[in-house]
Formats: sequence, structure tokens, C-alpha cells
Amino acid sequence: MNPEGRARVEAWLEYFNDLEISDFCLDRAAFTVEAASAPVEPILAAPDPLPRPVRVAPAVVNPNPTHVASVLPVIKSASLFAANERVEGDTLDRIREDIGENCRRCKLCEQRSKIVFGAGHPKAELVFVGEGPGHDEDIQGLPFVGRAGKLLTQMIEAMGLRRDDVYIANVVKCRPPQNRAPEPDEIETCSPFLYRQLAVIRPKAVVCLGAIAFQSLTGTKPSMSRIRGQWLEFRGIPLLATYHPAYLLRNPNAKGDVWEDLKKVMAHLGLKLPTKR
Ligand code: URA
Repeated sequence: MNPEGRARVEAWLEYFNDLEISDFCLDRAAFTVEAASAPVEPILAAPDPLPRPVRVAPAVVNPNPTHVASVLPVIKSASLFAANERVEGDTLDRIREDIGENCRRCKLCEQRSKIVFGAGHPKAELVFVGEGPGHDEDIQGLPFVGRAGKLLTQMIEAMGLRRDDVYIANVVKCRPPQNRAPEPDEIETCSPFLYRQLAVIRPKAVVCLGAIAFQSLTGTKPSMSRIRGQWLEFRGIPLLATYHPAYLLRNPNAKGDVWEDLKKVMAHLGLKLPTKR
């Protein structure tokens, strides 16, 4: 096996061992050594071919759970499709065109290299929303392609999905300088494009990666440890927050918590869940 393939296999095994799901992943033959030794695609495509996720009967999810509503206001701005940002006959291409090639709507334009629109399946059932592009994303124009992105890819693959089965977007589409958090005016300027993306894709679930994504979509500012793993609703779409992969890089012990959150998403989407041996 080439060194790149070996490194990928080792990274997977480490991640899946951390989560104690190696058997689950290997049983499904989703992660074969041969596939892993295939050349690494620049956008971190999962090894091809991988089996499609196994469907089971969807779990019943209450998108308006009362235990959350009691501590957080659930966003109930009519339905997703009655939202202000709704554009008749909207498409992802049209949203990208509306942003323009050289968007100057906010100060993030001053230092960005590339606008990072978002990537993935245009009709994905699952959308991951991050904060904003980092250095690697700014260079490649693609979301989550750096170190945190590799971890996100592993999370997606652990769910039995491939990156191109889901859609990945950010709250702001240009890199904040020095990877600082996006500021309220930047979020306010850019988030309507994210809302339109979600309205076009109409996923069955949105996973907010970190507090900024959660705050931007719900307008609330609770601590992540308080709200992670709980279903809320964003304009008719079930939404759940979990820790950002960059946080996991600094706090690997939180991987188990994130896996618990992702299992809830899998149940909601009717994906096969790992069983304890
Ligand atoms: N962090 C994010 O929030 N988004 C990216 O695209 C990359 C890193």
C-alpha cells in the first residue's frame, strides 16, 4: 500500500477505534484497505466505490421536543418555504450567481482568496453547517478540506455516508482573517444565502457544527454543552448541534459525544445503527 493509503487507513482505524465502532464499519465493508489505498482526491472524496448507506425504517423524531422548547425558543418563522429569503424558482446555481464572483457585501472580501459556496449533493437529506472557511478552504474554494475537514469526512463516513451524499456549507462564505469567529454584521450579510441554500436543498436534517452555526440558524446563544444533541427546528427542518470538528481536534475526548449526536441523526434518517457486540 502506498504511504498515503496507509496514512488514511491508520487515521480511519484510530477514529473508529476511538468510537469503538471499528467492527460496525468493517462489517459493512465500507472501509476496505484496497479502497483506502486509492489515490487521495484533492477534495477528500471518500474512497470509491463505497456501498450506499443501508436504509432501515426511520425512527420517529419529534422535531419540536418539549424538553428543548422549555429551555430554548424554538424558531417558528412560518415554514421554510414561506421565509423572507425565499426566491421563486430558486436553485443552488442561482444563489451562487447572486453572490457573484467578487462579492464585496462585507469586510471579509478584503482578505479572502476564494468564495466558499458549499459543496455536496444538491438534494442531500443531510446538511452540515460550519462556521466559515479556514486557510485550506480559502485556497481551494471548497468547504472543510483542511484538518477539521478530514475529521468531518471521517464522521460522515462513520455514519455510512460519503461526502458527496451530504451537503456541506458555512454560515459565512469567505474566510475570516486569522480564522477569527465571523462577526455579527458578516453573519447577517451572508446568512441569507445559507437560508436560501437550505430552502433549495430541503434536507431532512441540518447538523450545526459548533456554536456559531447554531446561533446563526436559531438566533439563540446557549452554550454548546447545554444544547448539543437536542433536536430543534429551523423553519420546518429538524436541526441538531454538535461540537465543531476543530474542537474535536483539540478535545479528542469529545468524539464519543459527537458520535452519540450523529447516531441520533442516523436514526432520524433511517440509517443502520451500530449494535453493541
Ligand atoms: N471550519 C469551518 O467552520 N468551515 C470550514 O469550511 C472549514 C473549517
